[in-house]
Amino acid sequence: MKNEMIKYKCPRCHEKKIIDYGKIIECVKCQLEFYKRDIETLNRSNILAISELNDFIRILIES
Ligand SMILES: [Zn+2]
Repeated sequence: MKNEMIKYKCPRCHEKKIIDYGKIIECVKCQLEFYKRDIETLNRSNILAISELNDFIRILIES
């Protein structure tokens, strides 16, 4: 019985089936990856998927 499968859920679609990569979880439904740290510390509406974070950083660098 793996507790972490229940502890973390997708902050975007609230799916409870997630793949645990250690520091990162991936939602099987929307296939977005999130940092566990963000889920634990940030408001759900402020959490960005890792792919979205990368886009955000790219925009900052290029501007
Ligand atoms: Zn999801």
